[in-house]
Amino acid sequence: MKITAVEAIPFAIPYRKPLRFASGEVHTAEHVLIRVRTEDGVVGIAEAPPRPFTYGETQDSIKAVIDKLFTPELLGLHLLEREVIHGVLGRTVGNPTAKAAVDMAMWDALGRTLGFPVTLLLGGFTDRMRVSHMLGFAEPAAAVAEAERMRDLYGIATFKVKVGRHPYTLDVKVCRALRDALGDAVELYVDGNRGWTASESVQALRAMEDLGLTLAEELCPADDVLGRRWLVSRSPIPVVADESVPTPATVTRELLSGAANAISIKTARTGFTYSQRVHHLCEGVGVEVVMGNQIDGQIGSMCTVAFGAAYRLTSQRAGELSNFLDMTDDLLTEPLEIRDGTLPVRQGAGIGVDVDEDKLTRYRQDT
Ligand SMILES: [Mg+2]
Repeated sequence: MKITAVEAIPFAIPYRKPLRFASGEVHTAEHVLIRVRTEDGVVGIAEAPPRPFTYGETQDSIKAVIDKLFTPELLGLHLLEREVIHGVLGRTVGNPTAKAAVDMAMWDALGRTLGFPVTLLLGGFTDRMRVSHMLGFAEPAAAVAEAERMRDLYGIATFKVKVGRHPYTLDVKVCRALRDALGDAVELYVDGNRGWTASESVQALRAMEDLGLTLAEELCPADDVLGRRWLVSRSPIPVVADESVPTPATVTRELLSGAANAISIKTARTGFTYSQRVHHLCEGVGVEVVMGNQIDGQIGSMCTVAFGAAYRLTSQRAGELSNFLDMTDDLLTEPLEIRDGTLPVRQGAGIGVDVDEDKLTRYRQDT
């Protein structure tokens, strides 16, 4: 089980339509495939999705930190020496998706070596997760059309609505249009990506009180220390921390300060090992969690399902698992399929997916 190589392979796959952010447009998913090889001939895989405007990582930075800083120290270590491995990864402060992908590729290699699915090694609670679909910024009619399409095509009945623009002229209207069109059969919750102030957040939540929203994620900036505490004390629904909690320590800080009372776990930034720690922490203090998405591809989405299905707490709510549908293709030999609103875990060893070498050759950028 000794590590003999860690490869970081940049690849690029176009999106079906450009993803629009406040900072610009993205036309292509530029991710990094991580492969961990062992002396037994086993290859573990995972995927790092750089999010430059969230974590400051790029494809180049992920490859550089893995090739230059991590790999020389990881070679020769045993897959089960996780504390030693994380001692190596912990030598840099940042680089969350690079570290998470190395961690998950090692778990995948461990599962393949032992002949067990990673989800079983982690906890084995259930075999699938319900899927939540994220609705990006849109006019009310377009958001409704997208939600109806996802409901009719994939059976999805949970929607996370991106808000954080103009609370009263736009965001509240979109949520109301969705509830009016889709009825009570669907679950709706909102994610503000820090776009509102605390007082706008309280007023918007009041204006939507009759819509039966279930969660409110990262409505205002993490630096609004007292504002967030004030918001949590007035919110009728759990306030989820996401961008503000990339590590177990920041989860502790946000929860103890009263700035949030639910947590988004993203395997893309905390891998399996640190997602476990975040999960145990949340379970220990009794707060809800939601499995989030870092605009993952199919490998990353399978990692999220493998982790989310492993525990009672993480599988209670629908996981955000549908972003891979925005990509025109992927690297897997067997593409993921959402059916009846759920995504099953794969029963094979490791995370249960394999890379199609022809596709990798087509999309890799280092040859
Ligand atoms: Mg979020």
